[in-house]
Amino acid sequence: MEHKFQKGKNHGIGVLTSGGDSQGMNAAVRAVVRETLRQGHRCYLVREGYTGLITGNIDQATWEHVANVTHLGGSMIGTSRCDEFRTTDGRKKAAKIMFDRRIFHLIVIGGDGSLMGAQKLKEEWGRFGEELFAEGKITEEVANEGRELHLAGIVGSIDNDCIESDKSIGSDTALHRICEAIDGLVMTAQSHQRVFVVEVMGRHCGYLALTAAIAVEADYVFYPEIPPDDKWPEQLCHQLESVRKYGKRQNVIILGEGVTNSKGMKIGGKQVKEEIETRLGLEVRIATLGHLQRGGAPTFLDRLLGLRMGHEAVLEVLKTTEDVGSPIAGQKTVAQVMCLRGHNIERNELSRVIRQTETANEEMQQRNYDLACRLRGFGFLDKRTYLNFVSVPLSFTIPEDMKTFAVIHIGSPCAGMNAATFSFTRMANHSGIKVLGIKNGWDGLKNGDVKLLTWENVQGWAQAGGSMLGAKRQLPSELDKIAEGLNTHKIDGLVIIGGFMAFQSALVFQKNRSDYSCLSIPIVVIPATISNNCPGTCMSLGVDTALNEICRQVDNISQNAMGSKNKVMIIETMGSRSGFLATMTALSTGSQFALIRQVETNEDDLYKLAVETKQRLDSGNLEKFLLIRSEGASEEISAITVKRVFDQVMKNKYGVRITNLGYSQLGGHPSCFDRQMGIRMGVRAFEGIVKPDKMGKRDCCVIGLRGSSLRYVPVQGLENKVCFEHGIPLHMWWLKLHPLVEAMTKKPERIST
Ligand code: ATP
Repeated sequence: MEHKFQKGKNHGIGVLTSGGDSQGMNAAVRAVVRETLRQGHRCYLVREGYTGLITGNIDQATWEHVANVTHLGGSMIGTSRCDEFRTTDGRKKAAKIMFDRRIFHLIVIGGDGSLMGAQKLKEEWGRFGEELFAEGKITEEVANEGRELHLAGIVGSIDNDCIESDKSIGSDTALHRICEAIDGLVMTAQSHQRVFVVEVMGRHCGYLALTAAIAVEADYVFYPEIPPDDKWPEQLCHQLESVRKYGKRQNVIILGEGVTNSKGMKIGGKQVKEEIETRLGLEVRIATLGHLQRGGAPTFLDRLLGLRMGHEAVLEVLKTTEDVGSPIAGQKTVAQVMCLRGHNIERNELSRVIRQTETANEEMQQRNYDLACRLRGFGFLDKRTYLNFVSVPLSFTIPEDMKTFAVIHIGSPCAGMNAATFSFTRMANHSGIKVLGIKNGWDGLKNGDVKLLTWENVQGWAQAGGSMLGAKRQLPSELDKIAEGLNTHKIDGLVIIGGFMAFQSALVFQKNRSDYSCLSIPIVVIPATISNNCPGTCMSLGVDTALNEICRQVDNISQNAMGSKNKVMIIETMGSRSGFLATMTALSTGSQFALIRQVETNEDDLYKLAVETKQRLDSGNLEKFLLIRSEGASEEISAITVKRVFDQVMKNKYGVRITNLGYSQLGGHPSCFDRQMGIRMGVRAFEGIVKPDKMGKRDCCVIGLRGSSLRYVPVQGLENKVCFEHGIPLHMWWLKLHPLVEAMTKKPERIST
């Protein structure tokens, strides 16, 4: 990856983590350190948050300081809540330390409180400099050199309450832990027919509670943005009774941390338990997940988010720095926060982000709950709607003469397929529409292998991995028979869930409409493939679950490599001809190389890489070398070829091993992201099929995740944007991240001191 700035003066960039720890902070710190060193500047690790800034507990970072930290939870540099920094005197002490160490660039990773503290420091910085100089505590030269504080913020908080960012670092892992814990509780609750009240974190923000409730098919959720009215005990018990009538043997109720009733009185787990036991006589247990939610290894998403935000934050603070060749160098700076929008990292003014988050919290305090929900964003409002549809049982029987929609799974099974089918079925049933599940691909439709899906028989599907209908890699052939199947079952709308073949199937249908009138039904493709090669979307279902599983396995391989002679690990991932999975694996596990089809590598390149690797292993600067090879990378360079080249160079001093992760990559239970995205996509598919006008009069579309929202992308328009030979889109947004694999792992020859 090319350096963007010409080298001039050597600047000091400090990084700190503050507030509650959150998983992914280490990935961010690593990226800050390594990008700073790559750019030729000094990096400083400020220990224990603002406490370290005030006391001078600061170390200059080396490249090796941040080796092997991406997979660790918590914060490797320590974090704290520091009351002294809330005071002007405290912040002035911090400024003095920074002037002394010549640290005029600062990257703060933390929640809204931490970012607020950083903004205050920035606002007071000029005055502090003048005062410190007038008091004779710093020289004129230092005061001049540090007249500007170049500041960037990264939101690291499990609460996900930052208004401008889709996700904050740590919130995905916290959700992951919550879902894992509840999946476990459901088993025991089912055996004893119990009710579990699960208390989750999130002081002012119901993101964790609401999202987890959707992902685990909870029966009721309390979250701070919508305090329940006085009749909540009746409503809750009515809901529990009605789902039990549908055969449910257990209930999960999620209780957010800061929940109050409409009069502002706190609702606790004990109160919920007593209401249920008294009214229904059911056995209730309370589970408080507490700090477990902050525990464990970060998920793939948090690792990647940390890395990308850390990298961008360094570019941001250097942008306005003099002597680095940037066109806006020397201008007065405005601190920015790194925010995630869809798959892009955007910058937003720190002061505005703080104001908005504060406004949402104030509206909550003033009990303007609707406004607070709107401020949290559309995703938040949508979640409320989904929950109402998917958790409330049907109160009527669907008449026989109503419309029928069908769902089919095409391609390899993957996580999220069942969640999408689940929400589509429940939405359709609530609108009085029947849903047929077509089993085992297009053959199932031809052979009449279909199953009626109902509100009750899709129970538990959101949490189920693989494909409950049976997915098949197959394009529609023998269209006469397919048309007969559609006519026999009177299918009025079709959802095809799968990858590139699902898209191709829809295209076949679209093109043959003039010959078969029954194909002129609304069709929606829900992208679901771990290769992430379905066109029209930046992310497919299944990818997140697969990458979490891959991270887990690569972490194990990596740890073992450090303690053995086998230092070179060649790990092969799935992904067909798309290098997405291999690239993301390398980025999220700190692997040194990603061999993919989209970036040419020949045997000479490999030889050079092997020689360089041996030198680094010999020097002790490298503990192990991980090369991730995408299965479709190249016909000439197989995993065995890579091993041969490395073996030749390593000359038996270091062992070279190949691991093919195989089918285990598909993962088991879907991740929280895949569950809730599957549910969102299923709902969106229903909305499009039932009202094709919503799809912009084009009734054959892929549901694409574009930015933060789900869009209908016409299948026909995508035909010229794909390579049919390799089964991949022509434009792949993630390719721009591939150079980061090397940037974050290849130590520059010269490092500033
Ligand atoms: P989390 O989301 O985990 O709670 P947070 O960053 O919001 O993270 P806080 O405890 O609110 O956590 O803030 C962390 C630290 O940031 C505080 O201990 C304090 O040092 C500093 N800080 C917070 N608010 C302010 C403020 N208004 N002025 C100055 N410093 C502040």
